[in-house]
This record gives sequence, C-alpha cells and structure tokens, in this order.
Amino acid sequence: MWALLFLVSVTAVAAEPRSFHGAKVFRVTPQSPEHVELIRSLAISAQLDFWVPDSAASVEHGKRTDFRADGQVSYDVQALIEQSGMPYEIMIDDVQVALENQQNSNIRTGHSYDKYNDLDTINAWSANIAAQNPGLVSRSQFGISYEGRPIYLLKVGRPGVDKKAVLIDCGFHAREWITPAFCQWFVKEAVNSYGSDAQFTDLLNNLDFYIIPVLNVDGYVYTWTNDRMWRKTRSATKNSKCFGTDPNRNFNAAWCTGGSTSNACAETYCGSTPESESETKALADFIRNNISSIKSYLSIHSYSQMLPFPYSYTNAKAKDNAELYAVSEGAVKQLESLYGTIYTYGPSASTIYIAAGCSDDWAYDVGVKYSFTFELRDTGKYGFILPESEIKETCEETMLAVKYIANHVMINA
Ligand SMILES: [Zn+2]
Repeated sequence: MWALLFLVSVTAVAAEPRSFHGAKVFRVTPQSPEHVELIRSLAISAQLDFWVPDSAASVEHGKRTDFRADGQVSYDVQALIEQSGMPYEIMIDDVQVALENQQNSNIRTGHSYDKYNDLDTINAWSANIAAQNPGLVSRSQFGISYEGRPIYLLKVGRPGVDKKAVLIDCGFHAREWITPAFCQWFVKEAVNSYGSDAQFTDLLNNLDFYIIPVLNVDGYVYTWTNDRMWRKTRSATKNSKCFGTDPNRNFNAAWCTGGSTSNACAETYCGSTPESESETKALADFIRNNISSIKSYLSIHSYSQMLPFPYSYTNAKAKDNAELYAVSEGAVKQLESLYGTIYTYGPSASTIYIAAGCSDDWAYDVGVKYSFTFELRDTGKYGFILPESEIKETCEETMLAVKYIANHVMINA
C-alpha cells in the first residue's frame, strides 16, 4: 500500500477549477478494529477526503463511512479494501461526471430558486428581494470575511416591538451547496406566503427570521472558482502551508477537543483560537448582541438527512433534552409527510458522533434553547453533489420542518 504515497495527486493551481476525473466516492462499513485502522492509514497515505463522518478520527467500527479517493489512487484504495474483506460500495464512480450532471436545471443564467447560484448572484438577489419587499424584508451587512467580502443578513418579518427571533444560517461548509439554496427558498416562501398563507403570516407577524444565505462566503466562492470539494474557510494559518479552518469547530464549546484537531491541514481544524475566523466571530457577536430576542438557532448543513440537537461535544444530555427531542420528532414527521424522505434525529453526539466547537452547542450554552442542526438530502447517492433537480423537493420538505419548529418557538419561547 505504500506505493500509494507516490501516486497521491497534487492539486493543480490554475484558473480552471480542479478536475475530479476518475475520483470515486466509496462507502465502507468497518467490521473490525483492523478495518478502522486501515481506513485511518489510507486517510493519510491516500489523502482521502471524508464526507461522512467528516474526519478519519470519527470513523468507527460498524458505522458507515463515505469518502472520496482521487484518480489512480482510488484503484489502489479499492484493492486494499477488497483484500481486507470490508464491505464496501462505490457511491460515485466518477466525481467529475457527477459534478457535470449536478447543474441540470434548464435555467442557466441569472438567479433562479431551482439552480445553484454563485455568490454574486445571491448577493444581487438579496439586495433585490429586500428592495421589492420593504415592509417584510431588510438586508444588512453583519460581518466581513477573511478575504474582505461582505456577509449579509436578511431580516424577514413584519416590523413589531419585542419580537422573538429565529436565526437560520446556510453555507457554513462551503461545498454543501444545497444549503444556500434553502435559505433563498425560505425567503421566497416568506414573501410569497405573507397575507395568503395563514400559518406563515402568523409566524411572520409574531417572529423575526434572521437569514444568513451564505456565512462562509470565501469558501463558497472558492468552491465555484477552484475546488468544488472545499469545506473550510480560506484564512491563512501561521507556520502552515494549509488554508482554512472548519467554521463548525471554531466555537467556544469544549473547543478543539473531540472530533476536531489542531492540525491546520485537516478538514476539522479548530482554528488558532475560538472564533479565530472573522465569519464565526461575526455570527457569535450577532447572537451575543441579540441574545434577548433570539430563541431559536437553525444551522443548515448537508448531507445525511438528520435533525440533531445539542450536545455534540459530550454524551451528556442537554437539560432541555426531552423537549428538543419532541420538537425534532414533530419537525421530522412534518418533513417526511411530503415526499417520504426519512430523517433521523436525536442528541448529536449519539446520533452522529462527538464533535467539539460546533455553533449549535455554543448557541445552546449561551441561552438559545431551540438550537438544531439540519443535515439536508441526501444519504449519499450524490452527497455534496446533489443535482439541481432535487432542490425544489428538498426545500419544500425542509420548509415544513422549519415552520414546525418556528411555530413551537412562537408558542413556547
Ligand atoms: Zn456541514
């Protein structure tokens, strides 16, 4: 297997986005400690990119693991897995082909809710929808990224005094393209439903929704221009050639302990300090500054079809565990009722795996009781490369869960 060391491909630095020709996504389920060990050693020697779980350290006996192996290396990886007797499937045979098929909407120019929009298009859209709906939507810049891009926030709701608020962020991890699509969808639905849909009108009269369409703006741009599989922010790290911090390991919630690392080259790098990233600092500041009104925090990620809630950093149960469990159960029932998409839910650490420094845990610990993370479609057929043809259904079903949670917040918070 050490021959792999010589086959590892090097990312090309060019104007063209990185090609993923021949890259495969495997799904394995380790059946023994030796299998886990094999995956962990391949993680380094074959430079595997972990999709679920998001690092080699979180790979466990009996739990399914999806990862990408590039080009020629993927054949060696496949041979070694086969030799080991570990059950495996090839989820994506050629990542480049999947990427080319992902943008399968007929609409290719301008903004559309049924396609993936780049950051400039999303920013133009948010300015426009605020201008068109002055009594319902306003836009402000609540932060600036490491590379100097504005990070926008849309406040959606009928103006009122002492309103409770629900904060929803998308585009935390750069490659999870379905998530900015959801935030845009949410605002569209709010605007279209106000005055015609009784339930949504009630929500908008009584709650403010703070929507962040793309939090990790630098990373998102990078996925369009350079590397579609980029996850982290784009900040430089002192004394390292590697860029970026995992924004969802960068919060002051058992920071840099389990499920995260101080290795700057890792996908789950916790950063140099809690809130070292301008993007996470802006979000944390916003929550601190509005802590009296923000009652719910929904962080939108993909993929896995899960609705976990705190805690991620410990197996200990949150003090509101019973209520959060009941709310997630109700939300998932709503979601599943539309297209039969199956979701799992529960406390994060036991539902997914231990992960420290996550925004939902941090928000919960500073007092945002209804703190949830969504892992949207799918369960790995396309993973991060979910085709545009699934945007509509994904957003429609997710809306039902979000409205369920918001309704609970409106009545109970
Ligand atoms: Zn994510």
